[in-house]
Amino acid sequence: MFKKILIANRGEIALRILRACRELGVQTVAVHSTADRDLKHVLLADEAVCIGPPAAAKSYLNMAAIISAAEIAQADAIHPGYGFLSENADFAESVEKSGFVFIGPRSETIRLMGGKTSAKAEMIAAGVPCVPGSEGVLPDDDAACRTAARATGYPVLIKAAAGGGGRGMHVVRNEEELIPKIHLARTEAQAAFRDSSVFLEKYLETPRHIEIQVLADARGHVVHLGERDCSMQRRNQKVLEESPASGIEPAQRERIGALCVEACRRIGYRSAGTMEFLYEQGQFYFIEMNTRIQVEHPVTEMVTGVDLIKAQIRIAAEEPLTLRQEQLKPQGHSIECRINAEDPRRFIPSPGEIKKYHAAGGPGVRVDSHVYAGYHVPPNYDSMIGKLIVHGSDRAAAIARMQTALSEMIVEGIQTNLPLQQRILQDEVFRRGAHHIHYLDELLQNWNENG
Ligand code: ADP
Repeated sequence: MFKKILIANRGEIALRILRACRELGVQTVAVHSTADRDLKHVLLADEAVCIGPPAAAKSYLNMAAIISAAEIAQADAIHPGYGFLSENADFAESVEKSGFVFIGPRSETIRLMGGKTSAKAEMIAAGVPCVPGSEGVLPDDDAACRTAARATGYPVLIKAAAGGGGRGMHVVRNEEELIPKIHLARTEAQAAFRDSSVFLEKYLETPRHIEIQVLADARGHVVHLGERDCSMQRRNQKVLEESPASGIEPAQRERIGALCVEACRRIGYRSAGTMEFLYEQGQFYFIEMNTRIQVEHPVTEMVTGVDLIKAQIRIAAEEPLTLRQEQLKPQGHSIECRINAEDPRRFIPSPGEIKKYHAAGGPGVRVDSHVYAGYHVPPNYDSMIGKLIVHGSDRAAAIARMQTALSEMIVEGIQTNLPLQQRILQDEVFRRGAHHIHYLDELLQNWNENG
């Protein structure tokens, strides 16, 4: 096992990683910006190193500063968390070349799966079902683009090959719109990712977002830990997640899970990872792979009993993964609500001092959060201040438990989206498990008009 791990992140995930390290008897190094001296994990870590000013580009995205901190503190490994540098293949490579262990997949794997068209090609080769669309990136030739769109069938979605965060995506409903939207997507992709390549795929009108969690060790042993439903989204940002997904039968789970396991073996995947799918009319369509731990990993932990962060660390330390697929049947049901510091109706960030804070508790309730009374939420980063997670014997029990837990949460001094989460939990469509990825937009419109 490692002696010392540097945590290259902030907020709740940094605290989550610190807790896992402590349980494993590993020392921790926190790195932080000047705006984050009061973060809970910074106060709890064995060592803390300030790596730069508040702007993420100069601190949490500053590869040289993070690697220097690891050298000074003599850490053995670096955990990147999610966001920031977690899916940056160049960072993973620099970490490896500087003699540290990157807690994640090999840099080549991150590079391969980071390109949406290269990832899709690998999945097609492994027999994983993908959204139908253009073969690789679109050529510059307009006529060839029209042919590809016609072959796929309208509506189509133009996506940036190097995309992320929903940027550079455009729905095209007919041929007139096609070429102008391709140009628009190329310009956006160039600005956001310095790569103008785009591709197209069939636009699915009302799919659900269902993703499969995998764990793979360095020796090729791979298991899947079932699925999460993350269909409750606003502007492609997940708001509430759950596991298992309503209506997914065990046989279906095993089938798609086995395909994901096979795909991981093919690409020599190592560490925790997630394959994201759209699900419509009983069919799964792969969209992308996330080569890191995800925000919503706790719902999988709650139904499988597996600590995914400890598993990532053990795998990085070259311990064999001892889990067997047969052990991984989901038990009960888990739901996670993301708690954001924002206006619940207009979604404007609400940074500032938390004057009063009481977390929910009781059986089957978990709060993953770094905040406390007196903590100042800085304006410089993502607005998520924590996650409320519950486990119940079935979906109805988990919903009732989440409603109780939400009613107990007290966060004063700033605005939060807790009222929105309460509204979602009461919603009939959500309660039937009948929502899809655009449903939250409908619900919000209704909420704003009818109170
Ligand atoms: P990004 O990496 O930019 O987040 P994704 O490929 O993961 O892009 O897609 C983001 C979101 O866009 C998905 O969660 C889904 O809501 C929507 N989406 C992606 N592909 C399609 C598609 N073919 N049809 C309909 N919606 C899609």
